[in-house]
Amino acid sequence: MKPTEAAMRRKRQGLLRKLGSLAGLLQGSYVERFSVCARKGCLCHQGKRHGPRSYLVVYRQKRQRQCYVRQAERPAVRRGLRLHEQARRFIEQLTDVNLRLLRLGRRARQAEALRRRGGHHG
Ligand SMILES: [Zn+2]
Repeated sequence: MKPTEAAMRRKRQGLLRKLGSLAGLLQGSYVERFSVCARKGCLCHQGKRHGPRSYLVVYRQKRQRQCYVRQAERPAVRRGLRLHEQARRFIEQLTDVNLRLLRLGRRARQAEALRRRGGHHG
């Protein structure tokens, strides 16, 4: 079954509705790691490293920035990252729908042009 333009537009509306709010979205990589501090004589220098500490690694102009995440903020950060994943999938689906709509429009214009040419000659 070929997708009709109306069906594609309905699908697009459905996608837009499903997305909902992007408030809280975060793009980056969540990392947890153990670290050593600057204090001399601290046990962390003998293997008892601090942590795990959480960071959100974000990229700006090809530069990496590490943002410290407090323990209480971890759930919100995880939610924000999930939202980004949803948004990414949403953008892929929206692109597919819009590409199909472009192709359908092209086909419709070609059919229209053929019909008009046929009218002149026929
Ligand atoms: Zn230390």
